[in-house]
Amino acid sequence: MTDPAALSAVRFRGVSRHFGATRAVDGVDLDIAPGAFFAMLGPSGSGKTTCLRLIAGFEQPDAGSIEIFGAPMTGVPPYRRSVNTVFQDYALFPHMTVGANVAYGPMVRGVPRAEREARARELLALVALSGFEDRRPAQLSGGQRQRVALARALINEPKVLLLDEPLGALDLKLREQMQVELKSLQRRLGITFVFVTHDQSEALSMADRIAVFNEGRIVQVGAPDEVYERPQTRFVADFVGGSNVVEPDAAERLGLPRGLYSLRPEKIRLGEIGFAGTVETTLYQGAQRRVVVAVGSDRLAVVAPAERGPLPVGSAVRLFVPPGAAHRMEG
Ligand code: ATP
Repeated sequence: MTDPAALSAVRFRGVSRHFGATRAVDGVDLDIAPGAFFAMLGPSGSGKTTCLRLIAGFEQPDAGSIEIFGAPMTGVPPYRRSVNTVFQDYALFPHMTVGANVAYGPMVRGVPRAEREARARELLALVALSGFEDRRPAQLSGGQRQRVALARALINEPKVLLLDEPLGALDLKLREQMQVELKSLQRRLGITFVFVTHDQSEALSMADRIAVFNEGRIVQVGAPDEVYERPQTRFVADFVGGSNVVEPDAAERLGLPRGLYSLRPEKIRLGEIGFAGTVETTLYQGAQRRVVVAVGSDRLAVVAPAERGPLPVGSAVRLFVPPGAAHRMEG
């Protein structure tokens, strides 16, 4: 029989890390499956980076236990863990060439020069940077530096790759391109990737599982569509995708059984039937418009396709909430 504990790439049980009065990480249980592309998503200060540093071994828990592939990590220093980190600022050595940066880990381990240089070339090919061996980091674009940092981490053949806001320093277009590249690289390698982000769209598009953090705790874990479609709390509904949170009184006015609901703006239809409302604000977003509609004393955000027309402030509209569009939440 396989020990089920051995099945998690990373396992936290009751892990806490406090800094003075700040409960940075507060009693976290976590299971990350081998081969997962796992996102830690949450607002600034919610404890994501501290969790990543706990996995890497740069921080020690005050309470609880951490295992990596079934091995207890208590007292295991960072360099003895089968984990590598790609930092947000990449932390490349500026005075070294790209090739030397990538070959750094094997060099420290005493791998002979010819072998480590060959290996560095393979890794640079993997991240589409063949021929860049002799450049210095300063001679690269942000996206290229990011790929060098990836190659430098992957050359150590970690079982778990930790990425702290890996795309934070890149502009939007490059970010989107690197999202696709990172995802396909992870699929090809089959290594467990754990990445920290405060960008919900990045977590939704890249991860196969997302843990949502708030105030040092994980408030929900699930596949992207689960977290988006079925938020359990108002915090998750609002933080992931900016949903309408419908309070119990408003639910009754919308014809729903009394309760707390998440109602996604794109699920509401603007048309000929439904509740009469008035456009309060309108935000053009290219493919769509995001409008806030006042229905009596309630306010609902609605997404309308751009071809629906300009929807000026003050115009009268009707809102239809299709059956099943609202998702009932716990609290
Ligand atoms: P961000 O997205 O801004 O990086 P985060 O979710 O990663 O935020 P953490 O960096 O884990 O959050 O920080 C969680 C809390 O712990 C914050 O209140 C932070 O100020 C505090 N904290 C983190 N590291 C330390 C430290 N070394 N000393 C004191 N407080 C710390």
